[in-house]
Amino acid sequence: MPDNKICPACTAKETADLFNARDYLVSGREFLIRQCTSCGMGWTVDPPPEAEAGRFYVSEEYISHTDRKQSLADYLYHLARSFMLGRKHRIATSVTGKRTGVLLDIGSGTGYFAAFMQKRGWQVTGIELNDEARNYSASRFGIKVASPGEIKELPSASADCITFWHVLEHLYDPAAWLDEVKRILRDDGKCIIALPNFSSADAEWFGSRWAALDVPRHLWHFTPEAVKQFVGKQGFTVDRIESLPLDLFYIASLSYRNTGKRLPLTRGVFTGVLIALRSLFRSEKASSLVFVISKRD
Ligand SMILES: [Zn+2]
Repeated sequence: MPDNKICPACTAKETADLFNARDYLVSGREFLIRQCTSCGMGWTVDPPPEAEAGRFYVSEEYISHTDRKQSLADYLYHLARSFMLGRKHRIATSVTGKRTGVLLDIGSGTGYFAAFMQKRGWQVTGIELNDEARNYSASRFGIKVASPGEIKELPSASADCITFWHVLEHLYDPAAWLDEVKRILRDDGKCIIALPNFSSADAEWFGSRWAALDVPRHLWHFTPEAVKQFVGKQGFTVDRIESLPLDLFYIASLSYRNTGKRLPLTRGVFTGVLIALRSLFRSEKASSLVFVISKRD
């Protein structure tokens, strides 16, 4: 981890300690969130060392949840997933201007997006840290999935599109990953980075209870300005920003569930509608944002 007192996005030295956020999913421990007063970038102070980070992830629930269809929540989850896969596919094809091409999906998880793209003619490689998820996606979908260390073996200037769907905020050294992106991406290729928006309307609403803080799994809490600064430092420019509309409802429901509120899904949907109405036409306030970046020449 870099120096905790210097902004990892814009290198400003003026920071503010915001609040402690709790790990609701695994440990119950609290972690301090610090923020750059210049670009708004937030980060989790003193997260577990990378070698111990695996203890803070629960992979079992994550895999079994993907195919279960028992409750209304499971049904909604599947419906939302189909909608999101379609939206991600449309973003990838429209920003690259290609109906098919070579795609690298970093943090491919259980492989649903990679499989969706492969079925539509893309030549896909996934990168996934979790052994279980990697094996699952390879055996279920027949996708080529490499471990993170193997990214070095991928050929230079070979990919039309490289995607990070809610992944960059988990990475201990995102700058090193963007260096690899720069090497592997073709000069006219596009990199797509989806992130929770630390300056979103729901982040303001829920404060330290905002579920997308997800400490200590999320190390970085990006704002749009922080992304511009960070990728700019790595030799990229932001071409376009899109929003992922459904994430608001998911994050709002999860924020209620985490804090033990009854009927978290209903509350989440109502609060989501309220927040969405309040920030109508202000897409920079969306819960999750998708940044399309390209190499600067
Ligand atoms: Zn900053």
